[in-house]
Amino acid sequence: MSPTLLSPLRVGNLELKNRMAVAPMVTCYCDEDGMPTEQYIAYHEARAHGGFGLIITEDYAVDPLGRGFWCAGLWKDEQISPHRELTKRVHAAGAKIFAQIYHCGRQTSAALIGAQPVSASALPCPSMGEVPRPLSVEEIHTIVGQFGDTARRAREAGFDGVEVHGAHGYLIAQFLSAYSNKRTDSYGGPLGNRVRFALEIIADIRAKCGNGFVVSFRISADEYVVGGRDLAETKVICQQLEAAGVDLIHVSAGTYESAWAIIPPLGTRYAWLAEAAAEVKQVVSIPVQVVGRIKTPEVAETVLQAGQADLISFGRASLADPDLPRKYAEGHSDQIRECIGCNQGCISILFLNQPIRCLVNPSLGYEGAAEIKPAAVARKVLVVGGGPAGLEAARAARLVGHEVVLRERSDHLGGNFQIGAIPPAKGELISYITWLGEELQRLGVTVRLSSEVTPDVVAAERADVVVYGAGARHVRPPIPGIEGANVAEACDVLAGRVPVGHRVVVAGGGMIGSETALYLASIGREVAIVDRLPGVALEENAARRRFLMLELERLKVEEVVDATITAISDGAVRVEQRGKARALPCDTVVLALGMTPRVALLDEIEGMTDVRAIGDAVEAADGLVASREGFACGLAI
Ligand code: SF4
Repeated sequence: MSPTLLSPLRVGNLELKNRMAVAPMVTCYCDEDGMPTEQYIAYHEARAHGGFGLIITEDYAVDPLGRGFWCAGLWKDEQISPHRELTKRVHAAGAKIFAQIYHCGRQTSAALIGAQPVSASALPCPSMGEVPRPLSVEEIHTIVGQFGDTARRAREAGFDGVEVHGAHGYLIAQFLSAYSNKRTDSYGGPLGNRVRFALEIIADIRAKCGNGFVVSFRISADEYVVGGRDLAETKVICQQLEAAGVDLIHVSAGTYESAWAIIPPLGTRYAWLAEAAAEVKQVVSIPVQVVGRIKTPEVAETVLQAGQADLISFGRASLADPDLPRKYAEGHSDQIRECIGCNQGCISILFLNQPIRCLVNPSLGYEGAAEIKPAAVARKVLVVGGGPAGLEAARAARLVGHEVVLRERSDHLGGNFQIGAIPPAKGELISYITWLGEELQRLGVTVRLSSEVTPDVVAAERADVVVYGAGARHVRPPIPGIEGANVAEACDVLAGRVPVGHRVVVAGGGMIGSETALYLASIGREVAIVDRLPGVALEENAARRRFLMLELERLKVEEVVDATITAISDGAVRVEQRGKARALPCDTVVLALGMTPRVALLDEIEGMTDVRAIGDAVEAADGLVASREGFACGLAI
């Protein structure tokens, strides 16, 4: 019989209680010296309480010069003792914990580490743009020793094992790949030389930690760059790692240049690395772990049942719902809050070196703050608007004990967020709104749809507090012809509320404009996007933007950039592009020139009672800001 997610797994000398692991993800919750904070410890503890059998931490730099983020560190003995509190609390909550250990090599910047980055060779880093210094053989030996010392510190701090990060284009991967390793000494050239650095690291860890300490190795099955390492070489490397004493192989993919493979965006098929893991599993006898768009326990079970892997990594899914394993074990999979793949809180923010957040889980990063405290006085709360901000406000207000009524003027929940799920590959956004709607039902919040709120309605509700989250509407700048019958707003177009002709000009190439253009092209329209910036969707995170740009190109969407719209007439949009006037023939013009708060009602009800505005109704922003603002507002009542 195939093992199930809830069955135990032996890894080296260790028994995991189930096959659900938190994938290693950088949080930026440690302090600048790599020391664990209460926020960092509570984040891991919450996932252990949620039922994960194994937690793999973020990267622990083996040397401060090997940091690519403000991540954790075990590069000196002083860092051992503070980490004992982390491992103690995770163990008390029933999980095992590995420290991921790494050196980022060239995938960092001199500004962050205060020195020139190092690598196997002096090739400019295609993603970071800096030229690293090639390591001497003596320096290689030093770094090998730093890995062993870091693993020894992890063992002394109470970790159950280490995961050596040999994936994603970091230093070990830089040595493993002919793409980044052009050395002519015994560490470069044939695969047998390129793997030497990794094998020496494993040997050093074994020498310093003994055979009982679990050592895992994370590897990109394929780097997805021209001339990079592929699955055939990966399989050979994994056999050599097993022979060197590795207990577990963790299959991932990509380097920074193929970031879409590290953080697969919406539109990537679920469990997309399962076949690669299965190929690795065929050539080794140690357990194989796999990551990559495995969002639900049910999909994870299919991977186990097909014999493709032994252990499943939940990355963003564990950020979205720390209680995923517990809910699954208790038969409540339907109550799991799924990651929607937006990458707004966990990736875009991380690359600003800021603490990570989650759009669908506004409590991420606040686990230790005991945020949900019963209100001193139960009050009546009216929430106006059923977008993410309003829904989260209603949920939080109810959680702390208030009576809550939510009114939404349309016949469904979600507001503009629901419309945002309509473009290709965005359908997963809906699961958040569905989860919130069902959660409000479970909590006993009264939800009234098709309910226009007026000052009379506010007065009749006799609420102590009105939370105003009526969202935002499209901006209409003073362009001649903008009020014409051939002009429509993107939200109306996506919602199917207005007819759209065959030739379309989308005014505005931000996220809404680009995705509306993609949607229209996907249903057969001939589309051009006009934007004053030098490109479209520039604010999108790299992984999603890559998908978007490939699709826009495939569907032949014209990008008219560096261009300003000067007028709209019946059959054309007039633009000025780099000093030259142009006419773009079209049947319909779709406006996506930005959003502005919907405040008409707010002005009317201000002063009637305690009114608190949230989300887009204050300042049009993204869902990440809206959900947290709504949740925090509800808690504060
Ligand atoms: Fe998933 Fe978005 Fe949350 Fe990241 S921020 S974990 S992508 S829902």
